[in-house]
Amino acid sequence: MAECGVCFRHCRIPEGQLGFCGARIAHNGRSEAYNYGRITSLGLDPIEKKPLARFYPGSRILSAGSFGCNLRCPFCQNYEISWSEQARRFAETAELLSPEELVDIALAARKRDNIGVAFTYNEPLVGYEFVRDTAKLVKAEGMKNVMVTNGTAELAIWEELAPYVDAMNVDLKGFTDDYYRKVLGGDRRQVMDFIEEAVKTCHVELTTLIVPGENDSEEEMRELSGWVSRLREPDGESVPLHISRFFPQFHMRDRRATDVRTIYHLADVARKNLEYVYTGNC
Ligand code: SF4
Repeated sequence: MAECGVCFRHCRIPEGQLGFCGARIAHNGRSEAYNYGRITSLGLDPIEKKPLARFYPGSRILSAGSFGCNLRCPFCQNYEISWSEQARRFAETAELLSPEELVDIALAARKRDNIGVAFTYNEPLVGYEFVRDTAKLVKAEGMKNVMVTNGTAELAIWEELAPYVDAMNVDLKGFTDDYYRKVLGGDRRQVMDFIEEAVKTCHVELTTLIVPGENDSEEEMRELSGWVSRLREPDGESVPLHISRFFPQFHMRDRRATDVRTIYHLADVARKNLEYVYTGNC
């Protein structure tokens, strides 16, 4: 039996079995990344697609994903590799790449405006060892590391990654404990702690997906953006917020896509507190 200390769930995993995220396995009494180097998606994306609006705009970044996730968002856009039945099958069929091989691909893509590696598509923190080992090599080559994450990890995990990660987009999916706990299967406090720590050393942008009837009130956006406004990056800059539109999919098909007018209105509400607000999927 191993107790995993990566996220708030602290799974107790029987030897040889996987934890809740499907990405970590108990091996010799310890929790290890079962998804280490198992790559399910690889592509050269515009940096704005992460989304990062204020980090090397106009560049591209080699984006790699594995499988597994420690949340259970019913509207997941990447459910094939996060927490569906298909994700479990990917565990067996994913292509194996070593950190060195991934860095070689990143270097070869330099001539196509690639600035580094983004750990994205599934939740990278549940396989943080691969992020750490690869990011070290990427940095040694003078390239950049980006992470796109739900921010659901203990601070000790972030401490291992912090020396290497240059920029992150972190989901701040809403601003009530109930929404995090009941709808997403998450822990809002852990995400907020993660963000507060990350902004001390890393360029951070945040994303909030607006789901009709869940997190779309003016009041919630006022509170969320007010909290974000108190964060400061190392250079004193304020933290950008991306407000994004929901589309019905996966297990949440009982409501329509977010009205574009709602997104623009909530962006205006956020702009009363924040300097950099962007709208997405509109
Ligand atoms: S990272 Fe995975 S195995 Fe570890 S505590 Fe979280 S859900 Fe459980």
